[in-house]
Amino acid sequence: MNIAAISTPSGIGGIAVVRVSGPSAISICDKVYRPFKAGNTLASRKSHTLTYGQIIDPESDEVIDEVVASVFRAPHSFTGEDVVEISCHGSLYIQQRILDVILSVEGIRLAEPGEFTRRAFRSGKMDLSQAEAVADLIAATTAASHRLAMSQMKGSISRKLDGLRLQLLNMTSLLELELDFSEEDVEFADRSQLLSLAHQIDYEVTRLASTFSAGQAIKNGIPVAIIGAPNVGKSTLLNQLLKDDRAIVSPIQGTTRDLIEDTITLGGYLFRFIDTAGIRNTSDQIEAMGIERSLRAAERAHIIILLSEPKVPFIDFEPRPDQKVIRIINKSDLAASHDETKSLMSDDSPIIHLSALTGEGVAVLEQHLIELARPVESQGDIVLTNRRHYEALNTAHDYLLRVSDGLTQQLPGDLVAEDLRAVIDSLNSILGQSITSQDTLNNIFKNFCIGK
Ligand code: GDP
Repeated sequence: MNIAAISTPSGIGGIAVVRVSGPSAISICDKVYRPFKAGNTLASRKSHTLTYGQIIDPESDEVIDEVVASVFRAPHSFTGEDVVEISCHGSLYIQQRILDVILSVEGIRLAEPGEFTRRAFRSGKMDLSQAEAVADLIAATTAASHRLAMSQMKGSISRKLDGLRLQLLNMTSLLELELDFSEEDVEFADRSQLLSLAHQIDYEVTRLASTFSAGQAIKNGIPVAIIGAPNVGKSTLLNQLLKDDRAIVSPIQGTTRDLIEDTITLGGYLFRFIDTAGIRNTSDQIEAMGIERSLRAAERAHIIILLSEPKVPFIDFEPRPDQKVIRIINKSDLAASHDETKSLMSDDSPIIHLSALTGEGVAVLEQHLIELARPVESQGDIVLTNRRHYEALNTAHDYLLRVSDGLTQQLPGDLVAEDLRAVIDSLNSILGQSITSQDTLNNIFKNFCIGK
């Protein structure tokens, strides 16, 4: 079936693009397209060419717009099918009319959400992890999330998994070979070698899965909590941090107001200040409750800003090993000496002195936040951002444990091979190779917009 949709965002722009894909995409478009140069029908044009002409309403012969039509012939197109992209003037009326006249031709319907990308997956132009990266790429709002999506779209996950799968397949075939000789009681596969290979693969799988938290942070904002006793200036600091950035984050439409107020982009990274609404109220609470709230906010944070003020000690806080702490003494505009505060410290970790009120020293804090964000991204060459991939890797890990157990307990080769195949299946599902359920695919592509 042929499909069509407006592929540019809904709204008025200089130009808009209506995309048509399918086996008869070109002949369908020719029914509503009139080239300026006689004989220049789209059907006569080579792949990857542009043709100037008009879109007409075939019923009334009315000219709807002057357009440029791009022709991509199968398999050299985004979807792998014949594709025509019609670039028209960007008025809402024109976009809709062009789509309507195309849909009025026999044999074509409106594309479903993500259907163009789904067809690209189906025709083998990309694997599922790459198709999902297209959605991430389109949604990326910062340099860092764009970098991750771009690397995944280029196939970084696929390449990594291909290597692991090859090793797993070798292991499986060695074990299966033994079955053919089961009468003779031979072992082709040295069990201790297999065991160390299983451990090595599991290490890779676990390491990849462990990047998910960093990937989530880069995609949705690195969670930061500002904690400290009441009145040390937590909300003032948050407001100071948000102030400079508001112009940058405000164009992100469709996000809630809270989200806009509580995220900032610094050095290409998105930072999300968690549960700050709660923290903001702490000045109204009794002291203990305020700190309690602060601590709760800190549980989910990757970065903790431990805030204090002159003569007030830092609150007791034991970070997890994966949490990074920045210590700040606020209200540097007040004339308290730094040394005086220093003597309150139990250790000599670096402290930033700043004034949340005047903004003095806040740039140093911002620089520090960026420095802490960088290693989050470069933990490994690949960073997972997709929960489906993360869960598949966890499943692979569970089966790898069974493989190791089986090998240790000298279980028969065919039982171990069965678990190995389950590992391969889980890895395959990331690339979409073992997904047969249409429901799963529907679920993945329903998050795309129409036209993608
Ligand atoms: P929170 O309870 O930790 O959120 O503290 P607030 O942000 O509500 O600030 C408590 C009080 O300290 C307010 O009166 C602020 O104006 C004041 N304050 C915050 N930061 C500074 C600062 O850098 N210098 C001075 N002089 N006062 C500050």
